[in-house]
Amino acid sequence: MIQTSAICLKQRPIGKTSAVLSFLCERLGPVSVYERGFQNASSKIKPLFDLGQEVCLALTVKEERYYLSEMILKQGFDLTDYRILVFSSFLFELLCSWQDNPPTRPEQLYQELIKCLHDFSEKKKIFGSFLCFQIRLLEAYGLAGSLKQCGECSQRFPEHELCRSEENTWNFLCSSCHHKTGRKKSILELSPEERHALSHYLQDRNRHSVLSGDFPVKIQTHLMRIYEEWGTFKSGAEIMRLIQSGKPEAL
Ligand SMILES: [Zn+2]
Repeated sequence: MIQTSAICLKQRPIGKTSAVLSFLCERLGPVSVYERGFQNASSKIKPLFDLGQEVCLALTVKEERYYLSEMILKQGFDLTDYRILVFSSFLFELLCSWQDNPPTRPEQLYQELIKCLHDFSEKKKIFGSFLCFQIRLLEAYGLAGSLKQCGECSQRFPEHELCRSEENTWNFLCSSCHHKTGRKKSILELSPEERHALSHYLQDRNRHSVLSGDFPVKIQTHLMRIYEEWGTFKSGAEIMRLIQSGKPEAL
């Protein structure tokens, strides 16, 4: 028997009575369980399974599959505001797309998601928390490079030079390594000021600093290009519409 805290991510009906339930577990990362009778009126699990809420699970393992023995509500978050609903749905979709690949540090990713859901629930720094979590997600899966040094030659970025991401990745190169790649399309360019602001922002646990102007839109647009390679996300287009139509700092 394994006991763990978990966030409810997705339910997928199977036939008329059962369902596959997806969770992000604190100790295990993403986990799916087959729950027989989930759609029946007598199900004890169904009334408790609500997307984005924190629960405690007791899981049994048989032949490398997880089965749910017990589930109780641990902590509720208010995700009902329309924009927050779209933002959180997108994050849950992203997490579900990595269902079969456990992150290297599941506890850390889990704590980041809890922090983000707290901010959503309290309606503060919504867009900043959303951006931060997406970068933490890439880090948790070993897909994010440093904002301090070049991902190719490992030299610290020169003080007054731009750094540029590699195509469709979150990995930044110094000018000389970038020019060697000869690539020009779909890249994110960061000025030294932007690099410092972003680096500071990601380390600021209390989110006292803000990312201003078009900068958050530029980052989100680049992140979307990265995720396009992971799959198609139902809420992706609405995310871009929301951040392009409004002022991200006000979200
Ligand atoms: Zn370099």
